[in-house]
Amino acid sequence: MPDTIPEPPAGRPRRSLTADPARFAREVLEPVRAIVGERGLLTDRDAMQPMMVAWRDSWEGRVPLVVMPASTEELAAVVVVCARTGTPIVPQGGNTGLTGASQPHGDDTEIVISTRRMNRIRAIDLDNDTITVDAGVVLQTIQEAARAQGRLFPLSLGAEGSCQIGGNLSTNAGGVQALRYGTARALVAGLEVVLPDGRVWDGLRGLRKDNAGYDLKQLFIGAEGTLGIITAATLKLLPLPTALATAVVSHRVV
Ligand SMILES: Cc1cc2nc3c(=O)[nH]c(=O)nc-3n(C[C@H](O)[C@H](O)[C@H](O)COP(=O)(O)OP(=O)(O)OC[C@H]3O[C@@H](n4cnc5c(N)ncnc54)[C@H](O)[C@@H]3O)c2cc1C
Repeated sequence: MPDTIPEPPAGRPRRSLTADPARFAREVLEPVRAIVGERGLLTDRDAMQPMMVAWRDSWEGRVPLVVMPASTEELAAVVVVCARTGTPIVPQGGNTGLTGASQPHGDDTEIVISTRRMNRIRAIDLDNDTITVDAGVVLQTIQEAARAQGRLFPLSLGAEGSCQIGGNLSTNAGGVQALRYGTARALVAGLEVVLPDGRVWDGLRGLRKDNAGYDLKQLFIGAEGTLGIITAATLKLLPLPTALATAVVSHRVV
């Protein structure tokens, strides 16, 4: 495991956002503050620190700003500010990914947009067996909400108590039941995504027999935030198994 985050491919040179603090404050920080309010941002290095590191790695990111929008509208407006000013964004969910992808570089060249305050279960539709949630809802919360209605949301992995559904979908997480139920990709009926220019792509529907054109939502699943920020998802629920049994199967190669 490298102890620094690999450099991105050559392209536009990275520019420290704090090289000109007055400009950063004028063009980015204050417009963002006007959108999300004081509760929706962090600029204190100590307060941001847990979002700069992953527990398994030795590298540490550094950004001048973490933004925590409370709604899709706020997140989209923040992305508009970033697009207008050419400010790179690292989306972050529960920061459990362990690959470095959810951590920023260590040189103040990006800001983090965290979905941690977007944690609302929007709706459960028991006729259609779907649940619609904000991207920042913790996976275990979704499992428990489904179970309370006699349904199963089968995505399950070690980080389920802190990872968020937006991160699960962006990494197309597999988890311990992937062979039975498929990876995260197989459990999504619809998505809502904020595109890189701040427009909201509304693909949030629960229609199961949706055979109209391209399945655009699948582009965003597993894309790790490169094509947009997932802000909500409609997820498929399954019948809760009435019995569980555990078996150990061994296989000897001769
Ligand atoms: C103990 C443990 C066990 C695990 N087991 C498994 C396993 O069995 N199977 C498996 O597949 N994975 C596993 N993982 C990794 C797993 O994929 C991640 O932990 C989880 O899915 C990431 O969710 P997160 O909210 O923490 O995302 P983060 O780590 O915050 O982000 C992951 C990536 O998604 C991007 N991202 C986050 N939120 C959004 C969003 N809303 N929109 C767009 N991009 C976004 C980030 O920029 C980053 O690139 C495990 C991790 C741990 C710590």
